[in-house]
Amino acid sequence: MQHVTLKDKTFVPYITSDKILESVKQMAKKINADLADDMPLFLVVLNGSFMFAADLLKEVTIPCEISFIKLASYHGTSSTGTVTEMIGLTEEIKGRTVVVVEDIVDTGITLEKLSILLTKKEVKQIKVATFLLKPEAYKKTIAVDYVGMEIPNDFVVGYGLDYDGLGRNMKEIYVLEQK
Ligand code: 5GP
Repeated sequence: MQHVTLKDKTFVPYITSDKILESVKQMAKKINADLADDMPLFLVVLNGSFMFAADLLKEVTIPCEISFIKLASYHGTSSTGTVTEMIGLTEEIKGRTVVVVEDIVDTGITLEKLSILLTKKEVKQIKVATFLLKPEAYKKTIAVDYVGMEIPNDFVVGYGLDYDGLGRNMKEIYVLEQK
């Protein structure tokens, strides 16, 4: 693994593809054991989760459905502030077990907003699967049920994660070089 430069920043190798795939397999095993009887709907949060979701779901062998959503934020009226909307969901999710598939949970703000939207739709239960978690940054109380790896509060790219649109296609994870 070589250093990579994306626009004005240099990133150094951090997590190899082998390590990533090993931890994804472990997560899939747990999900297969835990949710075998739930017919879960995996809700993949685009864009960043596409690569993790593809690897994870190849290893998930229980009956399930898969759907993809995007979150969009816009400014509502002054009384509502920023409103987050879920785009792309066509399935009926009332009464279902929904597994949110995230690339990374940092502060948890995104996850909390999504959790509120799903709760309004009266799902049976929400499970959260994220490849990366930054425990030092996570300030919310929503349970993160499945975590691939915990990392410090550093900026990473690759394996679906981007810097200004670049780097998503790299199969390894890189971290911003400390100067
Ligand atoms: P939150 O703070 O709401 O948990 O994270 C929101 C979003 O910030 C994530 O879904 C991800 O898109 C982005 N993010 C957080 N940490 C990183 C990081 O280290 N690298 C990249 N590329 N994106 C990140």
